[in-house]
Amino acid sequence: MPKSINKVLIIGAGPAGVSAALHLRQSNNISPVLYEIRPEPTTLGGAIGIPSNGSRLLGRLGLYEELLTRASSGSDLVIHSVKGHVLGKMDQTGWSKEKTGFGYLRIKRADLLDVLLKAAQNAGIPIHYGKRLVGINETDEGVTATFSDGTSDTANLLLGCDGIHSAVRKTYVDPEITPEYSGISNVFSIVPTFQLPPAAMSLDGLNATLVTDGLFAITPCTRSGDSIYWFFSREVTMPGSGYTRDGWEEHGKKEVDEFKATMDGFLKDLKGEWGDLLRRVVYQTQVVKFYPIFRLPLGGRWSRGRCLLIGDAAHAMQPHASQGVSMALEDIFLLSRLLQKPDYSLDDVFSVYDQRRRPRVNEMHKTAERNGTVRRSTSGWRLAVNEIVASGALWIYEACNLDKLGLGQKGLAYDVAEENLDL
Ligand SMILES: Cc1cc2nc3c(=O)[nH]c(=O)nc-3n(C[C@H](O)[C@H](O)[C@H](O)COP(=O)(O)OP(=O)(O)OC[C@H]3O[C@@H](n4cnc5c(N)ncnc54)[C@H](O)[C@@H]3O)c2cc1C
Repeated sequence: MPKSINKVLIIGAGPAGVSAALHLRQSNNISPVLYEIRPEPTTLGGAIGIPSNGSRLLGRLGLYEELLTRASSGSDLVIHSVKGHVLGKMDQTGWSKEKTGFGYLRIKRADLLDVLLKAAQNAGIPIHYGKRLVGINETDEGVTATFSDGTSDTANLLLGCDGIHSAVRKTYVDPEITPEYSGISNVFSIVPTFQLPPAAMSLDGLNATLVTDGLFAITPCTRSGDSIYWFFSREVTMPGSGYTRDGWEEHGKKEVDEFKATMDGFLKDLKGEWGDLLRRVVYQTQVVKFYPIFRLPLGGRWSRGRCLLIGDAAHAMQPHASQGVSMALEDIFLLSRLLQKPDYSLDDVFSVYDQRRRPRVNEMHKTAERNGTVRRSTSGWRLAVNEIVASGALWIYEACNLDKLGLGQKGLAYDVAEENLDL
């Protein structure tokens, strides 16, 4: 390890920050201190998917079994037509699970954070809440973070794990980079299964239906199947006020207030029992969240001096490849390995880190963007063509056993532990 790295300040106690604290403590014997802007543990709500490349790293953190007791592990992607029948399905992580030993997790965000925070507590890692970062200063010996309440802390290393709107990035590492709107927004919620028709209890994996206005998906998100996560992902024009939080807040409030009527419009053409189930899911929803999807443009700077951006703070991507949390975990595991190189300076660590992470992050960023295009508005006839194409592709996939070749899953069997660390 570069000499004298024994303490790290971590800004942001989301999945990236807490995982980084756990792993650097476990594998590098570095003492982490976490600083979180919110007054208590908070998440965006809803549920997230974590494929094999991320679940394997959660396994190495010693948390996979615990997460499995809470998460749904169904990994099928089932595509439904507007007429209500199944167009086809594929196992999203069958091959990668065989290669890695770790499968898909679909878990409530609150459960993921809870498991991470409990592990941090057991490891005696301090987390300070209500801490707004206002400045970063460096000397030859260390880096000091100052907070709005006048307190400060100093360490040998600082990690910016403070998400897409990262203050570490904006105030210090790369103020030039600005998040950009993807053109896609989501509404989402979680509904108790007992409020739904019995068919909901037997749902497995992600069940997606393409409609002319976007994509509606439902999936169990707990081990017992007692909760269904749903989201509707569609093209939404940026509000007139442009990229301002106010513009989106106003628009988001309208979306939330009117979501049942809006969703009725989108789902009205869905036929059969499937259509009835989806409408019922929306009808039973009490609270919905609206979330415009932003991403960071590729190519930004990730490190400066003793500071490194990790996870969304460095490379927030569209969620359409389910890779946000997994990419953050890969960042952390590569950093940890590099910090174990006794002859590397911190500059060497950040330089090799950057070279190895860029191609991988760029690939996932582009995949996520590409996957997002099926959410764009389309015409009725185009949707019919898309359904035929999807049905044919899934039929070929199954008939030719393409899953056995790992088609579309190679990236999920990637192991950051195999990256070459040479300068
Ligand atoms: C609708 C939607 C669906 C998604 N679905 C998936 C999915 O299925 N699978 C997946 O892997 N990813 C998904 N993602 C992406 C995923 O949420 C992120 O990639 C992941 O949360 C990144 O973790 P993080 O810790 O880097 O950032 P965050 O989760 O944003 O956490 C950042 C933390 O830093 C704190 N913070 C912010 N500013 C400061 C500050 N100035 N000082 C101190 N603390 C601060 C925040 O309060 C927060 O606790 C989805 C995202 C969205 C929007």
